Amino acid sequence: MTEHTPIGYKCLKCGKIHYPRHGRCLQCKNREFEEVAVPTKGKLVTFTKLKAPPSGIASRSLFLGIIDLGEVGYTGQLDVENIDDLQVGMELEATWKQVRIIDNRAIHGFVWGLP
Ligand SMILES: [Zn+2]
Repeated sequence: MTEHTPIGYKCLKCGKIHYPRHGRCLQCKNREFEEVAVPTKGKLVTFTKLKAPPSGIASRSLFLGIIDLGEVGYTGQLDVENIDDLQVGMELEATWKQVRIIDNRAIHGFVWGLP
């Protein structure tokens, strides 16, 4: 598994996949998980605009969304310029790219944009 694969946490008991990681499985309360690759394409469930992004993010606003990947919902940054570009149910694809700069170091992560 490369670092450029979105990761989910699969419950070793019931198989439910979580993202982000939880202390206990939301379905069966088990505490043991394995990392699994999750799909890089999904559908936008909901989104919001952050008007005051954390430091190190160049843009003045930031969009966050929940992407339905089938077995798991993934919370991530959306790669759009304008909130009008977003529509619930639209197809999105993950891309690995620079998301912010901390102490002059580029930080990379997944952003979700049009396929
Ligand atoms: Zn479970």
